Amino acid sequence: MKFIDEYRDPALVQGLVRGIQQRAARIGSQVTIMEVCGSHTQAIGRYGIRALLPNTIRLISGPGCPVCVTSGADVDRALHLARQSGVLFATFGDMLRVPGTGGASLQQLRAAGADIRVVSSAADCLELARTHPSREIVFMGIGFETTSPTVAAMVAACYERGIQNVSVFSVHKLIPPALQTLINDPALSIDGFLCPGHVSTIIGVEAYACIPAAGRAAVITGFEPVDILEGIFLVLGQILDGNKEVTLQYRRAVSPEGNKRAQSLLEKVFYPSPAEWRGLGRLPASGLAFTEAYQAFDACKRFPIPEMVAEEAVGCRCGDVLRGICSPLQCPLFGSRCSPAHPVGPCMVSTEGTCAAYYKYR
Ligand code: SF4
Repeated sequence: MKFIDEYRDPALVQGLVRGIQQRAARIGSQVTIMEVCGSHTQAIGRYGIRALLPNTIRLISGPGCPVCVTSGADVDRALHLARQSGVLFATFGDMLRVPGTGGASLQQLRAAGADIRVVSSAADCLELARTHPSREIVFMGIGFETTSPTVAAMVAACYERGIQNVSVFSVHKLIPPALQTLINDPALSIDGFLCPGHVSTIIGVEAYACIPAAGRAAVITGFEPVDILEGIFLVLGQILDGNKEVTLQYRRAVSPEGNKRAQSLLEKVFYPSPAEWRGLGRLPASGLAFTEAYQAFDACKRFPIPEMVAEEAVGCRCGDVLRGICSPLQCPLFGSRCSPAHPVGPCMVSTEGTCAAYYKYR
């Protein structure tokens, strides 16, 4: 199958592994590479990429899963909104089992009678608004730059059609500010990044300029074994040459300028605002708030939310896992109290979560 078989070709994989071994030997010291994308985390586990690499190459996972980086307080705010009288709360399925304070979840709330619907796209809210005209449809807007344009499109459609019973609880996140925070983190010593392929289809190459500016390597890669290994090979090449830049390996999906139409749609409906990230804390200009014209679609304005102070599950190290300073295997709850069947933290809930990937492919 085109774009799959050739990216799983054993001869190509073996050639890249040999190239990585040679470059790692020439570098001669440990190299730490972080992937900031849940799909990369999954693919690295699924294809056993770590086992193919020399000992000196350390792959660590960063805050690449949107469900996982949603703060405990935002999970509690979602629960508060879903409890409001007359509200039909719409969410992607991954959020259902994410525990908030005291282990409460949307799934539990739904079992107790709250009207919580799983949707596969933000656009589904248009149909919910049409079929439930007397209800308030509150959509949990979650995701990185790949997903937020679809939410912006839904909001713009509501605005144009005069649909008034839809609002969005925006917990969207922007990837570049998180990368800047990781680069600045003294506890981390990251030599290079595998940049997220899906997000890059929207934001393009220039958005990662902060990485080479900080003297780190960056490669935008895809999700097949050859993509990821070539990404690592290219990171090592930048380290050897001393020439740091953003290399675009995933050319079959990403254009250097990104998706201009999606970018302008995002700018029309949202602007960058401070946001709370699990593990990284409150980062400036790393979330999305509504622009003046679309304020009426802000669920937090339609349903005022009291101050929330979330309590994290005792022993859970999701914050450290998302920051890249702890492997899931170092969490005392991994595989005992915490498993995909009984998740204690969000990193074990989502299929894109680092702990879920380690559990599935350990
Ligand atoms: Fe959190 Fe579970 Fe991962 Fe531990 S294993 S960090 S409790 S999700």
